[in-house]
Amino acid sequence: MTNLLDLDATGLVNFLADLGEKPFRAKQVSRWLHQRLVGDFGAMTDLSKSLREKLAAAAQIRGPVVVSDTTAADGTRKWLLDVSGGNAVEMVYIPEDDRGTLCISSQAGCALDCAFCSTGKQGFNRNLATAEIVGQLWHANRALLADDVSADGAPMTAPWVEQGRAPITNVVMMGMGEPLANYDNVLSALTVFLDDNAYGLSRRRVTLSTSGLVPAMDRLRDDCPVALAVSLHAGNDALRDRLVPINRKYPLAQLLAASLRYLDRAPRDFVTFEYVMLDGINDSPLHARELAALVRDIPCKFNLIPWNPFPGAEFRTSPRARILAFQKALMDAGFVTTIRKTRGDDIDAACGQLAGRVQDRTKRRVRIHPASASPAVH
Ligand code: SAH
Ligand code: SF4
Repeated sequence: MTNLLDLDATGLVNFLADLGEKPFRAKQVSRWLHQRLVGDFGAMTDLSKSLREKLAAAAQIRGPVVVSDTTAADGTRKWLLDVSGGNAVEMVYIPEDDRGTLCISSQAGCALDCAFCSTGKQGFNRNLATAEIVGQLWHANRALLADDVSADGAPMTAPWVEQGRAPITNVVMMGMGEPLANYDNVLSALTVFLDDNAYGLSRRRVTLSTSGLVPAMDRLRDDCPVALAVSLHAGNDALRDRLVPINRKYPLAQLLAASLRYLDRAPRDFVTFEYVMLDGINDSPLHARELAALVRDIPCKFNLIPWNPFPGAEFRTSPRARILAFQKALMDAGFVTTIRKTRGDDIDAACGQLAGRVQDRTKRRVRIHPASASPAVH
């Protein structure tokens, strides 16, 4: 059985062609799936009964299996999703005044083993399928709309997304895993996020964060240049080799050159550099000056991420004063620099906070993760 959430526009056209249907049917089906967010074929009322029956015989609409769903005091909401084989991933919804952001996972675990990252410490389990990536956005929109629906009593049949009423307005690929290490499935999912017959998000509202897989950055630039965030974390190769081991393969000079190339096609005229603040490791004024000198020719902004602890990690979070001093040094050098707000910390939904504790809780409460590494979102 084909899961329709696994198919991008081309996939849907091909699938329907195999059923003897014309390409325009793919648009109709896509709108039902991703704009009206229906979960069964019976609801697709402008398709003939015989097509609905054909679809029901050959396909499924299989969204994620939700293990838990928790909302924090500040409105941040976190879902733990079972991705089978004893694995789970998480996605986090972050409401703000003018937008709703969904932080999406792309892999169960991660092979890149960054020193300060809980997902990395768990090792790599597997790539998520396109359906498992698209399913996160599909499910979050449905779940958030279901809340609205019960509030105003309206039925869930309107084309929410088309009417600009989707709760999720922005997607960030900053959850569990390295999205560019799962290139094909992530690319298909991105095209669905952007497709006017699906979620219709603009490229600037979809951000992909990478630890620096240089060849894949170049591919993305050609295939689907969404907004880019690069996890820098160090201003020299010796330190970055330690913190982000993929740096040994693609050192800073290559990474920065690729970031510049990407900018030619990027929807925004700057790259965002993420920089995790680790006490005594990468957070001195000297580090800030070194960093500023390194990127002086690249249109960029910095987003400083106070490191979030997890059990067994050897780091400490930089004290607030040190983070502020680091920010000031970068601002004085002319770089727009923000400090990432910690959201949803009462439900362990902040960057890097989830893994260990979720794993414990999962074992205790749901017992679907026998011995394995499991869930995390940064
Ligand atoms: N694999 C991609 C995307 C996911 S990580 C990447 O590395 O960019 C999203 C961001 O969270 C990255 O910048 C990552 O370095 C950061 N991060 C990882 N663990 C963290 C932690 N414990 N505290 C704060 N940020 C963390
Ligand atoms: Fe993987 Fe990103 Fe974690 Fe590094 S920071 S181990 S690339 S998920």
